[in-house]
Amino acid sequence: MNAAQSLSYEFFAPGRIVFGWGRRAETGTLAASLGRRAFIVCGSRTLFATGVFDELTQFLDEAGVQSVQLATVSREPEVDDVDAVVNSLREHDAGDGDLLLAVGGGSAIDLAKAAAALATNRHGESVVDFLEGVGRGLKIERPPLPLMAMPTTSGTGSEATKNAVISSYDPPFKKSLRSEMLVPNIVLVDPELSVSVPATVTAHTGMDAITQLIESYISNRAQPIPQALCISGLKLAVPSIVAAVEEGQLRGPRENMAHASLLSGMALANSGLGMAHGVAAALGVHCRVPHGLACAVMLPVAMRVNREVRTRELAELGRLFTGETLTDDADAADAAIETIETIGRRIGIPTRLSEIGVQAEQLPALVTSSRGNSMSGNPRELSDTELLDRLKGML
Ligand code: NAD
Repeated sequence: MNAAQSLSYEFFAPGRIVFGWGRRAETGTLAASLGRRAFIVCGSRTLFATGVFDELTQFLDEAGVQSVQLATVSREPEVDDVDAVVNSLREHDAGDGDLLLAVGGGSAIDLAKAAAALATNRHGESVVDFLEGVGRGLKIERPPLPLMAMPTTSGTGSEATKNAVISSYDPPFKKSLRSEMLVPNIVLVDPELSVSVPATVTAHTGMDAITQLIESYISNRAQPIPQALCISGLKLAVPSIVAAVEEGQLRGPRENMAHASLLSGMALANSGLGMAHGVAAALGVHCRVPHGLACAVMLPVAMRVNREVRTRELAELGRLFTGETLTDDADAADAAIETIETIGRRIGIPTRLSEIGVQAEQLPALVTSSRGNSMSGNPRELSDTELLDRLKGML
């Protein structure tokens, strides 16, 4: 936003956010405010092994909420996963007095968001009918079943967004179901739940949060409140991500990353994203690259692509990251990009597309599949030819 533009904006966020180390102890009382029977979508088998799942069902039981284990998903959700969970909800006759409880990463939260919406919106046969750009264009018309989201990865911010990302590999697409009604009714972030996340997943998901904060900050739909959230989130995430990866048992870095991830979700839900996320969706569907890793690989390139049209904003980030005065904007913008590259090297993020399994013949399909809601937020237009050349340069 420049000084000549008048100030006019809207801001959208979840109605209730509860954040704090150990606050999963409030799961039962919070869930009881939404319903008496909780269908649980779990995002990792580790949550069973560590006793977290049993602990949560005990909290629910103590609050008089019956729990039903509905699904466990440890990969990014596909069309069939959503349709199966919706069928299961129908078999249980889910309706008034019921809620969904998603405990897991973005995959579990998105699966629960989509299923909660389709359970009450029966005018389509499959979630495909509602997905942007690929389906019949059906809209979510009725409020979904109530949803409480408890993120266990620090990356997607899906707990605070109004979309659910659903993949298909045949035909290949990765698209969103989107409606303001999809935002969870209650967000309960207990950063302690992320302590069991392996270092590699911590690295990838953490870079997803950082990518979201940077892309929202410079997006062509950037707005004042999300931009303030982006600065807040980056102040925490950039100095914390290496410690979260290398010393994952530490409370401070885990708290900082969980908070930054939540802020990144609020930012992207209002401001959109950009090129890194556009290409990341394509890398997910054509090359099965995990979402966070794809964002991490693409972020430095996306920053360079936008450097000329967002020099001032990237310079602000460069000063924030380095703590230095850096009077020249161009130097400060470069410092922002170099900081991200340095973090990437330290936490093992590849720089070449070939290192994440991309082959030259896949590049045209990657270009086509990069077009979507995320890419539309990029600060400047990229022609197919330019995007193809950029990706070729990364092989
Ligand atoms: P994820 O949910 O797929 O989790 C990554 C891995 O970590 C999985 O194997 C999972 O089982 C494991 N895991 C999760 N919690 C754990 C824990 N506490 N301990 C041990 N292991 C654990 O990954 P993610 O990056 O959180 O989510 C990715 C998905 O979210 C993608 O489909 C992406 O497109 C989507 N996404 C959605 C939004 C949105 O706004 N809806 C935003 C960004 C990304």
